[in-house]
Amino acid sequence: MPELKTIHHWINGKLQASQSGRTSPVWNPATGNQQAWVGLADCSEVDSAVQSSKDAFLLWRSTPLSRRTEILFKFRELVDANRREIADLLTLEHGKTTADALGEVARGLENIEFACGVSSHLKGGYSEQASRGVDVYQIRQPLGVVAGITPFNFPAMVPMWMFANAIACGNTFLLKPSERDPSVSLLLAELLQRAGLPDGVFNVVHGDKVAVDRLLSHPDIQAVSFVGSTPIAREVYQKATQNGKRVQALGGAKNHMLVLPDADIEMAADAAISAAFGSAGERCMAISVVVAVGDVAEPIIEAIKARISKIKVGSGGEPGTEMGPVISPEHRNRILNHLEDAVKQGARLAVDGREDAATSGPGFFVGCSLIDGMKPGMRCYDEEIFGPVLGIVRVSSYREGLDMINSCPFGNGTAIFTRDGGAARQFQSEVEVGMVGINVPIPVPVSYYSFGGWKSSLFGDLHMYGPEGIQFYTRSKVVTSRWPDAGTSSVDLGFPQVR
Ligand code: NAD
Repeated sequence: MPELKTIHHWINGKLQASQSGRTSPVWNPATGNQQAWVGLADCSEVDSAVQSSKDAFLLWRSTPLSRRTEILFKFRELVDANRREIADLLTLEHGKTTADALGEVARGLENIEFACGVSSHLKGGYSEQASRGVDVYQIRQPLGVVAGITPFNFPAMVPMWMFANAIACGNTFLLKPSERDPSVSLLLAELLQRAGLPDGVFNVVHGDKVAVDRLLSHPDIQAVSFVGSTPIAREVYQKATQNGKRVQALGGAKNHMLVLPDADIEMAADAAISAAFGSAGERCMAISVVVAVGDVAEPIIEAIKARISKIKVGSGGEPGTEMGPVISPEHRNRILNHLEDAVKQGARLAVDGREDAATSGPGFFVGCSLIDGMKPGMRCYDEEIFGPVLGIVRVSSYREGLDMINSCPFGNGTAIFTRDGGAARQFQSEVEVGMVGINVPIPVPVSYYSFGGWKSSLFGDLHMYGPEGIQFYTRSKVVTSRWPDAGTSSVDLGFPQVR
C-alpha cells in the first residue's frame, strides 16, 4: 500500500506541515477509500498563522485600491482558467458531480467579480458645509485579521463568499476550511499567490474544534465568519462575541416549498427534485419539505416519484451521473437512521433510498427517498437531515402552510409555487425566512445582494457577501473637519451645534 499523502497548512505563502501529531482522514466518498490525511493544527500553529496575517496587514491595508483590484482581477482570471481543475478536486473529496462542482465554482466567481468593484463599494459620503466652514465625511476602513470557518458542502464557494470581500476591503484573511475536503483551499491559496497577493494576506490552517476555539479567543482576530450546522454556529457566535469579536455565524436549514393548488405541477415537481436531490441534498438551500396545499398532494407525489426513478446515482466524476455519494460513512448512517425513525414515527417511505445504500458497494451512497406523511414533531421534520431525503407535508390551506413554515426554528430559504401573483406577494411579505423564491426553488441571492437566513439559520446581524459583506469587513469612521478661517473661530463652551 503506498503511503497516504498529508495535506498541509498554507502560512505566509508556503505549505507548512502540521507539527501537532493529530490528523484526520480525507475520504474519496465515491470509492469509500481514504485518499489522504489532513494535519490538524494545535494552538501554537494557529498562533503562528495569526501572526503572519497580522504582519501582512499593515502593508496590505495601505495598498492602493487599484492595486488590490488588479490582483483580484488576475485571481478571477486564474479561477476561470482553472475551473475544471478546481471542480475535479471538489468531486474527488466532496463527491459532488462535475456539473455541480462547476456550478459551485461559477457562483464563487460571482463573488470575486463583486469584490473587483471594491473601489466603488468603499466610497463614503461627503457633506459640504454641514455647519459654517465645516465639512463631514464618512470613510470605511478594514478591521485587521479576520477568520473564516467553513463547512464541507461548498469547500470553494463559501470561502470565496468570505475572503473575496474581506481581502478587497484591506483585511488579511485566515481560513479554517472543513477538514473533510481541505485540498481546494490550498489550490485557491496558490492561485491568489500567482495573482500577486502578498504572502500572509491569505493563510489556511486546517483543523478541528481545537483550531476553531483558538481562533475564537485569539486577541488579534477582529472578526469571524462561520458557516456550518446550527448547534456549532450558535456556540461559535456565543464564544466569539463574548471575546469581543464581530461575528456572522450561518447555521443549518429546513427549507419548505409551498405548492398551491394552482401551481404548474410539472414545473413544481422538476424544481422539487432538483432542489432536494442536487448535491445529494447536502446544500443549506436544499428543499427538504414540500408543503402540499389541498388537492395538489397526490399529483405532486406522483410527479416526484416518476422523476426520482430516473435519477442516475453514481460516482460524481462519471459522465451522466446526476447525484453522487454523501460525504462520509457516519453521515450515510445518520441519514439511514433518520429514515428508520421516520417509519417508526408513522410516516411512509413512498420511495425508499435505503435499498440503494445497501447495494451500492463501498462508496458512501444513499438512494433518493420520499417521505410521505411527514409532520412537525417527527424527528425527520424537526431536524436537518442534510441528505437525499424529501418530505411531503399535507396541509389544507395557504394559511396552515404558512403558519407551519413560520413556526419552524430554521429560516434559511423557502419557495412558493403558484400562478397567483397576489398569493406570491402575500407570501413574500408574511413568511419569516431570509431568502424567498417565487417559482424558484433555490433562491441563493446573486453576489450583489447578500446571503443569509433568519432565526436559527443565522446568528449575527449582517448577512454574508454582497453589500452586507462589505459592511461586515469594514468599520465606518466619520470625520468632521474645519480649516483655519478667522471668521469662524471663537471660544464657545456650549455643546457644538450647527451654525
Ligand atoms: P459543521 O458544523 O460540522 O462544520 C462547520 C465547520 O465547523 C468546519 O470547519 C468544522 O471543522 C468546524 N467544527 C466542527 N465541529 C466543531 C466544534 N465542535 N467546534 C468548533 N468548530 C467545529 O458543518 P458541516 O457538516 O461541515 O456542514 C454542513 C452544515 O453546514 C449543515 O448544517 C448546513 O446546513 C450548513 N451550511 C449552512 C450554510 C448557510 O449558508 N446557512 C451554507 C452551507 C452549509
